[in-house]
Amino acid sequence: MYDASFTFTPDQRAIRDAVQKICDKYGEQYWIDAEREHRFPEEFVREMADHGWLGIAMPEEYGGGGMGITEAAIMMQTVGQHGGAATSSINVNVFGLHPVVRHGTDEQKRRWLPPMIQGKDRAAFGVTEPNAGLDTSRIETRAVRDGGHYVVNGRKMFTTTAQSANKFMLITRTTPREECEKTLEGLTLFYTDFDRSCIEAREVEKFVRHAVDINAVFIDNLKIPVEDRIGEEGRGFYYLLDGLNPERILIGAEHVEKGRVVLNKAAEYAKERIVFDRPIGQNQAIAHPLAESWMELEAANLMLFKAAALYDNGEPCGPEANAGKYLAAEASFKAASNAMLTLGGYSVASEFIVERFYREAIIGRIAPVSLHMIKNYVASNVLGLPKSY
Ligand SMILES: Cc1cc2nc3c(=O)[nH]c(=O)nc-3n(C[C@H](O)[C@H](O)[C@H](O)COP(=O)(O)OP(=O)(O)OC[C@H]3O[C@@H](n4cnc5c(N)ncnc54)[C@H](O)[C@@H]3O)c2cc1C
Repeated sequence: MYDASFTFTPDQRAIRDAVQKICDKYGEQYWIDAEREHRFPEEFVREMADHGWLGIAMPEEYGGGGMGITEAAIMMQTVGQHGGAATSSINVNVFGLHPVVRHGTDEQKRRWLPPMIQGKDRAAFGVTEPNAGLDTSRIETRAVRDGGHYVVNGRKMFTTTAQSANKFMLITRTTPREECEKTLEGLTLFYTDFDRSCIEAREVEKFVRHAVDINAVFIDNLKIPVEDRIGEEGRGFYYLLDGLNPERILIGAEHVEKGRVVLNKAAEYAKERIVFDRPIGQNQAIAHPLAESWMELEAANLMLFKAAALYDNGEPCGPEANAGKYLAAEASFKAASNAMLTLGGYSVASEFIVERFYREAIIGRIAPVSLHMIKNYVASNVLGLPKSY
C-alpha cells in the first residue's frame, strides 16, 4: 500500500528548499526576458545540472541521485513556479532516458547517462509524426537494417529542443504495421547523435513558451549504429510505455504549481484592487471561482502524489497517474482563466505573468497526452467500457 501520511519527509522538504534557492536566483524577470528574446535558459539548466538535480531519479551508479518519482515530482513542481519554459528546458534530462535505465545495456548506460545528468547532453524526443498524431502505431519513419547500421528516413513533428539538441531519442518502424500481429509491435527505439548533416529541424512558430523551441524534423538517410538501439528490435513502443506514468506524474505536478502561482497572484490582486469602494475580492463572483480553483488544485495534487507513492512502491499506478495529470491540467487551466478574469484589463499585461501562464495552461490539456485520450483510458482501462477507437 502507498503511504497515506499526506506529508513530506524532512529530506523531501529539503529538496523543495534547495531547488527554491535556484528558482529565486532565476526570478520572474529572467523568464520574462527569456520569453521576450526567444532565448533558451542555458544558465538555469547549467545551475540545475551543477547541483545534481537533473539526475535526481537516475541510478546512483551512473552519477544520479537514485531517488524516486515522488522526489522528482517535488523538484519539478518547484521549478514549475516559473512556467513551462523552465520545466521543459530540463524535462528530457530528468526523465527522457528512462527507457535506457530500464532496457539499456550497462555499456549504454555508462555512455549515455552521465553526460545527460551533468547537463552536457541535450536530447530531443521524436515520437509524434505529422501523419500519425496520437496513434503511434501509424508512424512512418522507417529504419532499415544495413549490416552494423540502420538507415533511417522520415519526419517527426513538434520535437522540443531540436534546435540545440545533440542527442535524439527516436522511435521508428522496423517491421511494416500490416506484418505485425499487434499494431504497436515492429517499432524500434534508438538513442543516437542528432546528426545535423542528415537531420533538419525547422522551428514551428508558436504563441507560447518562446524560450523553448518546437520543430518539424526531417530525417534523410540517417545512419544509426546498432549499438545505439535500445533493447530488442520491434519492442520500442513498449519501452516508451514504461515511462508514461512517471512522465504524467511529473508534468501533472508542474501544472499544479503553475495553477498555484496564478491563483496566488489573483488572490493578492483581489485583496488590493479597490473598485466601487471595496476590494474586488469581496465580490463572491470573484472570490468563489478562486476558492474553487484552490480546492481543485490541491485535490489534483493529492492524486498525483498518490500515483507517485504507488509508483515508488512498485505498484500499478496507471489510473492515478492519468487521473492526476488530467485533474492537474484542468485545474491549472481553470485557475489561469479565473486569474485572467480577476485581473480584468491588467491580465493582458505581460508584467503580471498571468497571461503567459494562461497561454501555457492550454498546452497542458493537449500534450504530451490530450484530455480526450486520458478519458478514453479511464473509460476502457478503469471502467471496462468498450474501447472507442
Ligand atoms: C508544446 C508541445 C511540445 C511537444 N513536444 C513534443 C516532443 O518533444 N516530442 C514529441 O514526440 N511530441 C511532442 N509534442 C506532441 C504531443 O505530445 C502530441 O502528440 C501532439 O500534440 C498531438 O497532436 P496531434 O495534433 O498530432 O494530435 P491528433 O492525434 O491529430 O489529435 C487531434 C485532436 O483529436 C483528439 N483525438 C484524436 N483521436 C481521438 C480519439 N480516439 N478519441 C478522442 N479524441 C481524439 C486528440 O485528443 C486531439 O485533441 C509536443 C506538443 C506540443 C504542443
